[in-house]
Amino acid sequence: MIKLNDPITVMPGVGPKKEKNFAALKIRTVYDLLHHYPRGYLDLTQAVPIFMAQDGDTVCIRAVITRKLTGAYLPNRGKGRMQLFKLYAADDSGSMTVSFFNQPYLFSSLSSGETYYFYGKFTRGEHGAQMASPQCFLAETAPHVLPVYPQTAGINNKFLQELVKTAFVECKDQLAEPLPSFMRETLSLLSIEQAVSQIHYPQNMKLLDAAKRRFAFEEMLCFQLGLSQMRKERTELQSIQLSDMSLTPFYDTLSFELTDAQKKAIGDCVSDFSGTVPMNRLIQGDVGSGKTMVAAAAIYLMAKNGYQSAFMAPTELLAVQHYDNLKKLFEPLGIECVLLIGGLKAKERRYAQEMIQTGAGKVVIGTHALISQGVEYVKLGLVITDEQHRFGVNQRGLLQQKGEHVHTLIMSATPIPRTLALLVYGDLDVSIIDELPKGRVPIETFALPNEKRVRALKFVMKEVQKGRQAYIVCPAVEDGQTDLISVTAYAEALQKTPLGVLNTAVLHGKMKSAEKDAVMKAFSSGEVQVLIATTVIEVGIDVPNATVMLIENADRFGLSQLHQLRGRVGRGSEQSYCLLLAAHATDRIEIMTKTNDGFELAKEDLKLRGAGDFFGDQQHGLPPFKLQEAMNDPRLIEQAKTAADEIIAEDPELNQQYVLLGESVKRLFSRNEQESFN
Ligand code: ADP
Ligand code: MG
Repeated sequence: MIKLNDPITVMPGVGPKKEKNFAALKIRTVYDLLHHYPRGYLDLTQAVPIFMAQDGDTVCIRAVITRKLTGAYLPNRGKGRMQLFKLYAADDSGSMTVSFFNQPYLFSSLSSGETYYFYGKFTRGEHGAQMASPQCFLAETAPHVLPVYPQTAGINNKFLQELVKTAFVECKDQLAEPLPSFMRETLSLLSIEQAVSQIHYPQNMKLLDAAKRRFAFEEMLCFQLGLSQMRKERTELQSIQLSDMSLTPFYDTLSFELTDAQKKAIGDCVSDFSGTVPMNRLIQGDVGSGKTMVAAAAIYLMAKNGYQSAFMAPTELLAVQHYDNLKKLFEPLGIECVLLIGGLKAKERRYAQEMIQTGAGKVVIGTHALISQGVEYVKLGLVITDEQHRFGVNQRGLLQQKGEHVHTLIMSATPIPRTLALLVYGDLDVSIIDELPKGRVPIETFALPNEKRVRALKFVMKEVQKGRQAYIVCPAVEDGQTDLISVTAYAEALQKTPLGVLNTAVLHGKMKSAEKDAVMKAFSSGEVQVLIATTVIEVGIDVPNATVMLIENADRFGLSQLHQLRGRVGRGSEQSYCLLLAAHATDRIEIMTKTNDGFELAKEDLKLRGAGDFFGDQQHGLPPFKLQEAMNDPRLIEQAKTAADEIIAEDPELNQQYVLLGESVKRLFSRNEQESFN
């Protein structure tokens, strides 16, 4: 008998190789398989007559097999031979050839004279109407609707359909209901068995919606329960309390006056440090608003009181940059900074670890390596996560465990509209920096069609001749895979233009970190005048002399990404420019030209995409909800929140009447963890 919690390998046809493929779909158990929801449905009742089918369409055709031919062997481009099978099928409107490659079993299971649904890609060429390797269903017994699953290499839709069906038949009696019946009644939610059955093989649209709503509610409920538990665990911890809170020496070393918003955020941290509960604070502020100074003030207080701080950046590039800046700031104050990134030499790493273990290093700046490679702090007091939108909810929990009751500070430039903040940051206190440092000149943004590229490049040239620097961003690294402009091709092409005389360099994520470092250093120092890069430069890079951001294929980027990229310029006192090149100006590009305000942009983005997509791109550190629809329904979020409060009041540990929900909560958050480490 197959059990719900069995590993996926108990299913027929799933060996070690397929097990790996399934892992790519985040399917490890039979339970996961049953909760692998279709991304769409194929309506077999909407079959298209052969006569009406268009060349290149993916269609469903209902036709009778008129003749089967025997297999023929064809040479297969150096890979031995390929077996080709052919049959003819016809409906009232016409006939077509259907061919299969290397599928003798499937072919022999099809009978002449029977009617089938053929689903697949249709072509119409010199050899007439054709379908190659379609899915085939005997019309008599075919369901009305077929699930179309998210697929991956080695696992196609048909295989998934069969496997899910088997799993459902074997395990439907084991599906335990995690939601209490009173809750299902008041909210009119389907039972677990109905919902699983309907989401895979819906009887009609109404039931499908009901099934989706149930799972969406359940996921949102589990998310809220998880946040609520995290919050509670925190309030039960004894926090590290600092005694010396004087920031004057720190302020005295700064070459500029902090903004009121920065001072207020620092004040929030100070009061957290003297409270009884560990700080768990989010600093939200637009790009360039100076969030790092708030972190620096917090680090200063920690160091002064003998505690270490860990500063996590999403990329090595950014870690190195933070290290350089903080070192400059802290060296005169006698506070030691340590850099800890993946690319360190053995000797450097040993030195770094010694500094951390002896406590001599008061600020440790690095990437994920910080958490993943067994670093032992003597006296960790504060964990800072920069650009939080790149981190998962429980990644922040992970580092926290390194020190017992450490304070956490998270910095994010991704503004979340107020209505949804509760959802994402339910376990955090928030300080908002809604003011830019004095003297910043607003960036001017222009949308340009591709035909104006030459003018755009001339503009870049002019700025560089004035002594400024420029970024050019392309969406792809190498040519070939896509129709997008690649950094390498762009850099070459640029050599043949008047800009060829300039000092240019290329930067992308596939380069070794030493190479990236060298390029960044050369750009920071001004030696490189034009940096041609992918979105690796999206976060954090700070070169105030750069005044032009030219983005190619701007229509391919999301709004928050465009805004982040634009934030790389306008960091000094000179007028800066953002040029958005695209074949056509999209809504997003239009909005970019109208405002520089990140919060305003987030609101527009939300309007354009709906909350599901807004959060769906994994930029916000949310668990990967399977049903993004959930978030397009604010009422459902409210309902889930209310339900979570009720449940926590009754069973705070989720180990009494709500054990099953407790398991689902763990599952949801561990899914998040796997995701964010990839
Ligand atoms: P972000 O909020 O995007 O992380 P940063 O902390 O990198 O912004 O700050 C952007 C730039 O502004 C840095 O060069 C920093 O030194 C500078 N800066 C920060 N605060 C101020 C201030 N109050 N006045 C002038 N410049 C500031
Ligand atoms: Mg920053």
